[in-house]
Amino acid sequence: MRSAPTILHLDMDAFFASAEQASKPSLRGKAVVVGGLGPRGVVATASYEARVFGVHSAMPMAQARRLAPNAAYLVPRFGFYRSISEQVMGLLRALSPLVEPLSLDEAFVDLEAGGAAWDEESARLAAVKLRTDIRAVTGLTGSVGLAASKMLAKIASEQAKPDGLVVIDPGSERAMLGPMSVRTLPGVGPATGDHLRRAGITTVEEIVEAGEDELVRLLGKAHGHGLYAMALAHDERPVVAERETKSVSVEDTYDVDIHDRVRVGLEVQRLADRCVRRLREAGLSGRTIVLKVRRYDFSTLTRSETLRGPTDDQAVVREAAARLLEAVDTTGGVRLLGVGVSGLADYTQEDLFAQAAEERAEVDAGVVEEGEDRSVEVREEPAERRWVAGHDVRHEEFGHGWVQGSGLGRVTVRFETPDSGPGRVRTFRVEDPALSVAEPLPLVSGGLAGV
Ligand SMILES: [Mg+2]
Repeated sequence: MRSAPTILHLDMDAFFASAEQASKPSLRGKAVVVGGLGPRGVVATASYEARVFGVHSAMPMAQARRLAPNAAYLVPRFGFYRSISEQVMGLLRALSPLVEPLSLDEAFVDLEAGGAAWDEESARLAAVKLRTDIRAVTGLTGSVGLAASKMLAKIASEQAKPDGLVVIDPGSERAMLGPMSVRTLPGVGPATGDHLRRAGITTVEEIVEAGEDELVRLLGKAHGHGLYAMALAHDERPVVAERETKSVSVEDTYDVDIHDRVRVGLEVQRLADRCVRRLREAGLSGRTIVLKVRRYDFSTLTRSETLRGPTDDQAVVREAAARLLEAVDTTGGVRLLGVGVSGLADYTQEDLFAQAAEERAEVDAGVVEEGEDRSVEVREEPAERRWVAGHDVRHEEFGHGWVQGSGLGRVTVRFETPDSGPGRVRTFRVEDPALSVAEPLPLVSGGLAGV
């Protein structure tokens, strides 16, 4: 492991909610919840003001509404968040050729690789400048962790939240990690956490005390060995910029076409499980889940869904494959099914359940990157489709605004822009010809000044 804290982890603060607050002056300082508003909707991101009420990501939306009935509830605008993410990633790439994004708002940077830092002082300076630049370019805040390894840099950025910088001095890692929950370590999700807890292990120190042999007995060779090393703060994983486009996939051809939809679903689950086993055996995780279906007439189609971060979680891959299958017509029978994972990484996000929930939020919101539109809400209310809560609109007379709500043939719009004050609300008929869908405005006008 290197001797200076030159691995940087950036995590934007309450990213989706902060972007919405920056975009909508009337929501600044208020509780804002971004997520799926449909019946199965879950919270993708809650603003810090909403977290005070106990609202957090992955929580069912209905529960959030009970806890914070007066919060603003908005549908995610992934295109908008992606454009901000590109600005942030651009700033990171200016620091180093080794930038490893984990999701839209999170990445590792190897500061030594770009010559941006070589010791603690230079790393600290680079991090301070980065945080200033991110604020200048995007108008948003991000928290930064600096350490000598990826694991510790990520722990540091978590401690730095919100809007902070934390440096973990090389040499102090073991003492710091000791009292922390096992869930702090990469790869320890809820299931592994429960498993360890049943064996009486709840802290990192207790992993060290249990010893490597015990860990291997509990979790198997690869996972047990890896986790023991992490508990000792040994993490040699490099920051990896570009990955070869590889994939892990499994498929089965059936002697007799399968007609029964339930059976097709079960086969897809079985393939998803097999695919995850292969993935784990290779120590990999991936972001894109692919479903392949060859029908009775030999027509073959593939459907894919890209998650916000890599996963090797059986439940996440199963769910994604099942969602993809929902959009495929299998009447007439299928002769081949396959499930694959691509966009491979050797890093798994810790909070896989939250991730799964965010993906569900994405689908619920009707934002689907590939494949067909599967939005429940859209199907239920075709007439309201254009006026999605939180999305931008333009009125010929009143200018730029956003949809505050719609229903019963009416749409209410708040007219404000990122650099205006809080705006006024007006109500229109949904078919008002003066009202049209608009693109989001940049959060910082002349955004790149000073960089
Ligand atoms: Mg974040």
